[in-house]
Amino acid sequence: MLIDGHGRKVNYLRISVTERCNFRCQYCMPEKPFSWVPKENLLSFEDLFLFIKVGIDEGIDKIRITGGEPLLRADLDSFVKMISDYKPDIDLALTTNGFLLKETAQKLKDAGLKRLNVSLDSLKAGVAMKIAQRDVLIKVLEGIDRALHVGLGVKINSVPLKGINDDEVLALLEFAKSKNLQIRYIEYMENRFAKEKLQGLNAQEIQDIISTKYSFKPVGRVASSPAHLFELEDGYRFGIIDPHKHDFCEDCNRIRLTAEGMLIPCLYFDEAMSIKESVQKGDVQAAANVLKEVLANKPEKNKWSSDSENETSDRAFYETGG
Ligand code: SAM
Ligand code: SF4
Repeated sequence: MLIDGHGRKVNYLRISVTERCNFRCQYCMPEKPFSWVPKENLLSFEDLFLFIKVGIDEGIDKIRITGGEPLLRADLDSFVKMISDYKPDIDLALTTNGFLLKETAQKLKDAGLKRLNVSLDSLKAGVAMKIAQRDVLIKVLEGIDRALHVGLGVKINSVPLKGINDDEVLALLEFAKSKNLQIRYIEYMENRFAKEKLQGLNAQEIQDIISTKYSFKPVGRVASSPAHLFELEDGYRFGIIDPHKHDFCEDCNRIRLTAEGMLIPCLYFDEAMSIKESVQKGDVQAAANVLKEVLANKPEKNKWSSDSENETSDRAFYETGG
């Protein structure tokens, strides 16, 4: 079992397989052009898998593949299969923008993927284009339908932004409800890579909008999940992820690995240690040592929850996977 320096059990590994993305979401990507990490600096699936085996052997039983856009990485299904074959009962999920899902959903399901979260911020083509800075909506909706068709579990992630898509909180809820999918609204997390001047809706503002049409009650938070859940009168549940409240740090169970092999103990902070050298040498013990050192130094909580205004993370979400 993996225990961090604050006594929390860590069993959840999120792996960003690429920082590259086919979208340029305003809340995630810098406005100015920037250069990607050269492809040769990325760890191969074999190298990532060596670390994953170390993690699983030490107690990781939940893995999420993310990015950047993970479906941009060729043969992702082969990576899914490596993990699934090693531990068939692992809780294996993916977070995607959905653009390439129509073409890949069946292969991912066959390889052992169980669930995915698809980001959907608007049901209006023009607004989706404004946020992603690409014409994306139709492909994303087709991707969601294909994923459901092949039997993958699907949740929707949505970031409500003031003056951009804040008038779609109810429409997105009703879209998700009509397909029997859980929607989780994510409060915009300030970071220095996002477009300046964006303002997110906070958890209360999201609830206020939903309460104009529906009655609902809070039903708490599943342990170690960042989402607070709410239930409508007909039993439909939606979630709100509120990083500005520090309660989910109390039972944080996760660590993050980037495509370059940086092991990150907390999404907010810049601190990380590399596993690259150890996995490329096939040195399992060295990789396990890095894992333990990172856990020993895992921060107690993020600073979005800080009392001081305008806390901004130095982390780029497209690198770490959000
Ligand atoms: N490209 C995939 C996607 O968009 O789902 C996976 C990576 S993306 C970084 C993971 C999640 O982080 C998405 O649901 C996205 O909406 C969320 N995200 C990115 N930047 C964010 C920010 N500044 N605040 C809140 N959520 C953010
Ligand atoms: Fe790409 Fe996802 Fe970031 Fe949007 S949120 S730019 S889809 S990595």
